[in-house]
Amino acid sequence: MDWIRLTKSGKDLAGVKGRLVEVTEEELAKHSSKEDCWICIRGFVYNVTPYMEYHPGGEEELMKAAGTDGTDLFDQVHRWVNYESMLKECLVGRMALKPVSVSKEISSISEEKKRLNGLLLEKKVLDASAKDSTPSYDWFQTDSLITIVIYTKQKDMNAELVIVDCEDKRLRGEIILNDYSYVLEVDLDHAVEEDFLIKIAEKIGKVEINLKKKDNNHWKTLGQPLESHNTFVKRKSRDLFYRKCKLVSKTEVTHDTKLFCFKLPESTHFHIPTGQHVYLKHIIAGTEVVKPYTPLLPFLPLDFEEPSCHDSANIYLMIKIYPSGLFTQALDRLQIGDCISISNPEGNFRKSQVEAVEDLVLLAAGTGFTPMVKVLSFALTEVVSLRTAKLIFFNKTEDDILWRNQLEQLALKDERFEVQFVLSEPARGWAGQQGRISSSLLSGFLKRSRKDSKVLVCICGPAPFTEQGVQCLKDLGYSQEEMHAFTA
Ligand code: FAD
Ligand code: NAD
Repeated sequence: MDWIRLTKSGKDLAGVKGRLVEVTEEELAKHSSKEDCWICIRGFVYNVTPYMEYHPGGEEELMKAAGTDGTDLFDQVHRWVNYESMLKECLVGRMALKPVSVSKEISSISEEKKRLNGLLLEKKVLDASAKDSTPSYDWFQTDSLITIVIYTKQKDMNAELVIVDCEDKRLRGEIILNDYSYVLEVDLDHAVEEDFLIKIAEKIGKVEINLKKKDNNHWKTLGQPLESHNTFVKRKSRDLFYRKCKLVSKTEVTHDTKLFCFKLPESTHFHIPTGQHVYLKHIIAGTEVVKPYTPLLPFLPLDFEEPSCHDSANIYLMIKIYPSGLFTQALDRLQIGDCISISNPEGNFRKSQVEAVEDLVLLAAGTGFTPMVKVLSFALTEVVSLRTAKLIFFNKTEDDILWRNQLEQLALKDERFEVQFVLSEPARGWAGQQGRISSSLLSGFLKRSRKDSKVLVCICGPAPFTEQGVQCLKDLGYSQEEMHAFTA
């Protein structure tokens, strides 16, 4: 909030007296001290000196990019952050273009244009391996239907990999293919009904989107292609896409944590894969703020068998409200019926990591519990090889334990599941485990159900907790493949 206030104060934060300048690499390199620090992100140069003391990661992190192009570093750490909005008052100007030799450009990006179904298609192919698997699409119509067929060439296609939004006449379909994403984005020729149907031929990787025409007009083209139409690029280089979701309920979980339920628009087809997070975007004091949250199920798998098929119209988020939290305070002020923008999912956890596991261990601290809910539900309901599932849940006090009752019930109901609570600030009288994560504490809990059993240890919590946990696991002889750390 202090930073937002400073940006609204009218001070010349960029230090260029309101003019935008063209910055050469040599000029950029000259501004590399804390007192005079320029950084380039995606071709735009910002004077980040006034922002130093407000940067959540501290000055040191910002200084890693001082006087250079910080785009890669920024993308590694928090590419979802809307720096354009946050740093708009610090904009110095654009990087001056360097002449590029034509042959170099051709070898790095091959662009192929062709006409199909009356649309000008532009395919951007980033490298040879991606080119081999570039999806394609086709469309046809009847009097009442428009059918778009996407040939992904991926054998194990499933509903979690297909995200479709169709609002007014704007259709956007995204197919996730490992690290790549294929997008169709069209301003449709005519209006369609809100509800549409997705059909997936899993084995051959064919995805069909069936749209219902609002009238029986014959369409000459599918529509006008929009900027990302028919592009196949690395997921990380794609801008996040958001849709507005309505708050339908907010219930207390503990004294400071609430379960928020947001309803997706009718015109969105969207399943959030196990272990992945989304970004929530909200305008706070005139500035766009974005934070990641991990969707979970409304409850643990106590009474039903197939949680992953359950309730795909709603997104459930368990969120801790921090007394001085910029975003969580704003979230807490939302009223039922208010809307918030929610992005497509991201994250590098794959269900296949759990598929053949025999012993699953979940190390969670505080709201680091959130990704564990879907992982645990998936393992208990769908992983036939699973022998044991153990949650070691680190919290400050007893009052902070999320879903304690449900966890204890689950442990009673399913003999494969066990839960241990570890408190770092227990009240007098706490008879359970206490302390913080350490190798000695973990060694007491982590036992394979049989020698050489296939194990996965998942870990999530505050960054120092996760870092220490990973180190402890290494010290205890766990391999990289046997652990998954949830980070941004
Ligand atoms: P800020 O304004 O950023 O901070 C205000 C104060 O709150 C800080 O001074 C500090 O005291 C406290 N605080 C803020 N952030 C943290 C933090 N991360 N750890 C400890 N103390 C903090 N949170 C959830 O509640 N549920 C989730 O499902 C969830 N999923 C996440 C998934 C990912 C991939 C990541 C990276 C984070 C996730 N978080 C989750 C944390 C969330 O993104 C925010 O950091 C958190 O909600 C605080 O935001 P804020 O703007 O309210 O706090
Ligand atoms: P908290 O402050 O209540 O702490 C919970 C427990 O974490 C403590 O009892 C302690 O055992 C441990 N802990 C805290 N600080 C530690 C430290 N410096 N070193 C070692 N152990 C420590 O936790 P919270 O406020 O609920 O925060 C949860 C965290 O989990 C947040 O930082 C959030 O960003 C993160 N999170 C990450 C993801 C993800 O996918 N990456 C998902 C959800 C939450």
